[in-house]
Amino acid sequence: PFNFNPDSYTDLIKNWPNRRATYALLTRAFMLVDGTRSRIKIVDTLVNFIRTLIRLDPESLLPAVWLTTNDIGPPYENNELGVGSSIITKAITKTSGITAAALKKLYNKYGDAGDVAFSAKSKQSTLMMRKPTPLIIENVYKTLCKIAATSGKGSQEAKESLVKRLLVDAKGEEIRYLVRTLVQHLRIGAVKTTVITALARAFTLSAQKNACWTCPEIPSDKEGRQEVLGRAESILAQSFARRPNYNDLIPVLLQGGVEAVKTECGMALHIPLKPMLGQITRDLEEMIVKLQKRDFVCEWKYDGQRAQIHCDADGKVSIFSRHLELMTDKYPDLVQLMPKIRADGVSSFILEGEVTAVNQKTGELMNFQTLAGRERKNVNAKDITVDVCLFAFDLMYLNGKELLSRPLRERRELLHSMFIEIPHHFTWVNSLVATSNDVAEIRNFFQAALSARCEGIMVKVLDNVLEPAHPVESEDPKRKPATNTCRKPLLATYEPDKRLESWLKVKKDYTNTADTLDLIPIGGWHGNGRKAKWWSPILLAVRNPSTGTLDAVCKCMSGFTDAAYTEMRAFYDPDEGINAGTTKKAYVESPLNPPVWFEPREVWEIAFADITLSPTYSAALGLVSDERGLSLRFPRFLRKRPDKSIDEASTSEFLADLYFKQEQAGGVTKHDAVMD
Ligand code: ATP
Repeated sequence: PFNFNPDSYTDLIKNWPNRRATYALLTRAFMLVDGTRSRIKIVDTLVNFIRTLIRLDPESLLPAVWLTTNDIGPPYENNELGVGSSIITKAITKTSGITAAALKKLYNKYGDAGDVAFSAKSKQSTLMMRKPTPLIIENVYKTLCKIAATSGKGSQEAKESLVKRLLVDAKGEEIRYLVRTLVQHLRIGAVKTTVITALARAFTLSAQKNACWTCPEIPSDKEGRQEVLGRAESILAQSFARRPNYNDLIPVLLQGGVEAVKTECGMALHIPLKPMLGQITRDLEEMIVKLQKRDFVCEWKYDGQRAQIHCDADGKVSIFSRHLELMTDKYPDLVQLMPKIRADGVSSFILEGEVTAVNQKTGELMNFQTLAGRERKNVNAKDITVDVCLFAFDLMYLNGKELLSRPLRERRELLHSMFIEIPHHFTWVNSLVATSNDVAEIRNFFQAALSARCEGIMVKVLDNVLEPAHPVESEDPKRKPATNTCRKPLLATYEPDKRLESWLKVKKDYTNTADTLDLIPIGGWHGNGRKAKWWSPILLAVRNPSTGTLDAVCKCMSGFTDAAYTEMRAFYDPDEGINAGTTKKAYVESPLNPPVWFEPREVWEIAFADITLSPTYSAALGLVSDERGLSLRFPRFLRKRPDKSIDEASTSEFLADLYFKQEQAGGVTKHDAVMD
């Protein structure tokens, strides 16, 4: 799989206009990726594509990578193309000559704007507005940037004209992917998560022929090769987690290869790093079993918004959300405050905390809904109606030095000693340093967190423990110590973009049997009786990261208010071609065939009684049993999660994990019976 195989592209690399890579080449890569479920094949396809560009047109690599990830820039810059369905519809009608009524029919049939455009243009002979010229990767990217930058009066017409120009030049399959790109819904396999791996492999393999790049020889044996490639992948993944911007990464790669990235593409002020995430535990008992023999700190898990705050020596402040969006404008009060919390000797810093709505007179914590009432953009410090306090929990950078590799104990000490509390405006998270012997204190601390409107607690390992400790039995004989972490080494370093066992969360929701899952609504049936005018039940799916598909897991028909049903009917409206149609997307796997398929757009939090092995659904197939998938009993809608994108919905692995935990806690051997 690591051999360079240009065959897939040979017919497309001749006669490039001015030797610039064509969009047809990228389209071929998309089609090859679309045609497989195998992650290995996806990586290979991308590796070959990237190597072709490195060899023939390196300047097109950066725009090609942006187009592959369906972005035009990093999340902390404005990337919205602002191309709605009306612009696309007008552009398709005008370039293909199809009537609006015929187009509506196609929308009902396909539901996907790309498929509609492809079908419309192949049915009608293209109206010759002008002679088409082959699309060049770089020009497509530049046009997208132009579309994004167009705003104000007349912008809709200007955007439409740019879209039209692209559509006139697009041929065959190019149209499908171009339109999907324009509606920012490219939907090809697991590409976003594979690009870094593919870049690492492509640059390592191409380095052998490039004298400018230092790169270890690739050994001829399989293990040796894997090791060299694995190392390159880890260098790139680490760099990208610290500086998630291809505009920074690709030029360094082209200049000096993978090794150069280690020194030239690290963390920087005003560029957000990807956050470290916490693993769910079922309850306090499980957390304590996992962290036997470790020193840890329990912290209140505030119900607010995560903020990564950068402040430089000049007092300039940038604030980033958990998804790395710039939200400095939302918190002018924090912007004013941040330079003032620096104790003597502090110039620049990057810290992390939870912004929480508070009563600034009493310090009482308010719930998340209160915080949600704050305007998002251009908030004026004088007009603030929702007061907030920043509760800091980590420090990643201080006075020009990265602190990620220091253990949490050290980072915490610096966070406490180098910053000044400003009561009810800036302070540290409420915390308790403990060991597994302090069960009573931990219980009280957890209860106090819940009483103060927190979601639960976060529990974090304080020191790196590299040598494994002895396994410890749970006091509850029903629980097996299989999930006991103390056999494994644990890191107390800050690991961007990782969900490790050194950060555990214990939430109120998980303390009883009611676990929840974040699922994606993918289809619906016409309701009966009172619900006749709405969708009910709704088909829900988990995300399968290894195949890039959304796998149906259950039907849900409870927990919705009438208002929620009405809103849902308007949001998924196949008659108007809004987020719904009658065909299933290729990336949706479902044994059931509802009359209406939803465009996967939302994440809903769903409660359930338990997880069962299912002869019908294929979610998590192969993870628990080779013959059966998993499904939920008595699923109930709790709420929408507008803060989560569908890429963050619960995965099939997570579902399987919860199933194992459920079996373990109940001592049930259903799973063993099936496996036997
Ligand atoms: P959830 O569904 O719990 O919101 P998530 O996927 O959004 O989970 P997790 O990493 O699983 O994020 O949970 C950690 C989140 O809890 C952080 O992103 C942060 O917003 C919030 N939080 C509140 N207090 C703390 C704290 N003391 N330490 C770390 N995170 C905290």
